[in-house]
Parts: sequence; structure tokens; C-alpha cells
Amino acid sequence: NGRIGARNDARSREAFARAKEVLPGGVNSPVRAFKSVGLNPVYMESGEGSRIYDIDGNGYIDYVASWGPLIMGHAHPEVVDAIKRTAEKGTSFGAPTELETLMAEEVASRVKSVDIVRMVNSGTEATMSALRLARGYTKRNKILKFEGSYHGHADSLLIKAGSGVATLGLPDSPGVPEHVAAQTIAVPYNDLESVKLAFERFGEEIACVIVEPVAGNMGVVPPLPGFLQGLRDITRQYGSLLVFDEVMTGFRVAYGCAQGLYGIEPDLTCFGKVIGGGLPVGAYGGKREIMEMIAPVGPIYQAGTLSGNPLAMAAGYTTLKLLTKETYELLERQAARLQLGFEANARKHGVPVTINRVGSMVCPFFTEKFVINFETARTSDLERFKTYFSHMLDLGINIAPSQFEGMFVSAVHTNEDIDATIAAHDEALSRL
Ligand code: PMP
Repeated sequence: NGRIGARNDARSREAFARAKEVLPGGVNSPVRAFKSVGLNPVYMESGEGSRIYDIDGNGYIDYVASWGPLIMGHAHPEVVDAIKRTAEKGTSFGAPTELETLMAEEVASRVKSVDIVRMVNSGTEATMSALRLARGYTKRNKILKFEGSYHGHADSLLIKAGSGVATLGLPDSPGVPEHVAAQTIAVPYNDLESVKLAFERFGEEIACVIVEPVAGNMGVVPPLPGFLQGLRDITRQYGSLLVFDEVMTGFRVAYGCAQGLYGIEPDLTCFGKVIGGGLPVGAYGGKREIMEMIAPVGPIYQAGTLSGNPLAMAAGYTTLKLLTKETYELLERQAARLQLGFEANARKHGVPVTINRVGSMVCPFFTEKFVINFETARTSDLERFKTYFSHMLDLGINIAPSQFEGMFVSAVHTNEDIDATIAAHDEALSRL
């Protein structure tokens, strides 16, 4: 690849045709099918550092990072080594291991609101379990979430969801029972007035507010000043819990997660992605008093055959140890360099863009509007995004096949990588 229209994808086409015979839509997660961008999905074969390689031999500078986890890049030698050394001693025991405690200590030491943490296997499991805990603890049923936020695919949370649901333009999912959906209130992100109104009406019934402290599933949308504090105040006033879904932002945007960055302490926090270092992991944690409502201490049940899996703990713990305060300074510099380059290109070509960024989460929207919620994110020109995406792929840059996802800069993106990406962006915009 390297030239618009010159990318060979014969083997990826063959692989997709074959997969469609045995996997729904050929994939195990909908966005991977490239349906909304109208292209054949690219089948990946390997990754190393900032690069990813497909089965046709094309290489790309990667900003998908497995949808966030690979903040230290692909196949980081220390992470791979930790997985290998652990695997040689056995892959799963169904009994406690010391690695789980090490991991929990590391999380608790970085995140002030978290005393103790329960490990699970995905972000979906983390949010689903946190909701059960919030409901069990408060003895209330309703939850409040934000339009265009994605918290995984649990029934209560597939209401006005972002990410793949938004990308595919799907309505709320069939299969979610009406009586479950009726317990979920969805209001616009960054709109405290709507939150207040919902609480005036249903406040005594709301178990929790669940929020992405930086929304990352409608593109990247930072919280407006005062928004998170407002949620903290309202939930406290009504005896509801504040749940931060940091599955994407956790250990991505700052050493102490988004809550450290903005100085807000939620009651419960959900983790995933980075905390697993590229292996299947999720976690939820908070103050001892609330967390000890879960079994075996308390009555709220949640369990997992592979939870706290040694390979996953080894990969996640090693990744967290690599993420020092200096790593976040580096991520900030590289991501800022990318943003400035993209903004200069857009001015040069007269293409209206708004680039939102928090740390290493970056999202160029094809709109002039200030993007603060799902409604304004949707003003982005999606046809333009499609063409742009296809050009970037041809030019050797792998970004998410959706306007409603950000780019993830990793600690192994070099200045040369960033400059090559800016040059490709320049070329792509010139051909829009
Ligand atoms: N919460 C957020 C904020 C997410 O971004 C995601 C996944 N993109 C999830 C939850 C669900 O995580 P998983 O896909 O691991 O179930």
C-alpha cells in the first residue's frame, strides 16, 4: 500500500467470504465488518510496536490499538515475556493467585476512589456487575446514562448507545425486554439541566448514574467544566451512586485515570482495555463499604470461571508498570503533535473539522460545530468520513472504521510515525 487505490486486499476478501459462512456477518464484533464504510474488512496477521500487518502484506501505522488496550503498542517485548513466563507455569487454576493481589494493589494505589477491586473478563461484565451492585446497594432499580455513550452490551445499557450501535445506525436492540429498558433513563451528555430534571422526577428511584468521564464512543467528547462535579453533587443529594465507566479512559488519559485528571471521586469505577494489556480483562472497584456487598462477603452475586486469569493479570500488570507518569507526558506530546498537524492540514485544504482530544484520545470530526454530545457529533459529514477512511487505509494508516470512535496514540508512536500520519492525512484531505 502507500498510494490511494493501490492496496491489494485479495486475501482479505477471500478470508471474509469464508468467515461469513461460519460467523454471523463474518465477525465476532460488529464494527470489524467495515459495514458502515462499505469496504471489505482487513484481516490482520501481526503487529509490532506502532505497526500492524495484514494477510496481504500491507503494513499500517496503527491507531486502533485493539480499540484501546495497546497503549504500549503491539507485542511489547516485556508484556509478551510476562505472558510466556506465566503460561509456562499453567494458564488457569480456578484458585486464587498472588498475581491478582498485585494487580489489585496497583490499581488501588493509583486510583484514590478505589479501595478494592473485583476482576472480570470484559468491559461489558464490569459495567453489568457494577450496575447490579449499585442496584443491590441502593435497593433501587432505575439507572441514568447518556445518549451516545456505550457501556458494553448488557440489557440495561443498550439504550441510546454509542460505538457500533451508533455506527450502524441501529435502534435500541430487539431482545432487551421492555420492562428492563423502562428502567434506563437516557439524557444528552454534558447536559446537567436534563440530569436535574430526571432526578426531580425519579430521584428516589435512581440507583446510579453511569458516565464515561470522557465520552469515547461518539468520537471523543470531553466533559464540559462542571459537568462531572455536577453529577457528583446531584447523585450525593439523592443517595444515588456515581459510576465512572473508565473502560476506555482508565490508565489511558492519565496515570490516575480520568477521575484523577478531573479531580472527581466516583463511588464505583469500571475498568477494561488497558488494564488487560491486550488480554480479555475487565474490573470494577470502589470503596470497601460498597464493594463488600458482593459475594462472598455480601449477598450480591457475581463470579467467573476465568476471572483474574494469570495470563491476563500478567499482561495487565506489566502494562500498568510500564505506564509511568513520564509515559503520560510522552503520550500528551505525541497526541498534541498529531492534532496540530491535522488542524493545519484542514486549514490548508479548507475542510471544516473539529478535533477533540483528551490526552492520547483524539477525534477529528468533519464538522465546524463544537462537539459536546451525540447530537453535535452527528453533524459530522459521514460520507466524507467514509472516503477519508478508505484513503487513510490505502495510505497505510489504520484508524477505526467509524466517525464515532477516536484514534488512540500509543507510547511507541515515534515522531516519524506521527509525521507520516500527518502527511497521509494531508494527502487524504487533498483527495476528498
Ligand atoms: N465501556 C466503555 C466505555 C467501552 O468503550 C467499552 C468497549 N468499547 C465497553 C464498556 C465494553 O467493553 P467490552 O467490549 O470489553 O465488553
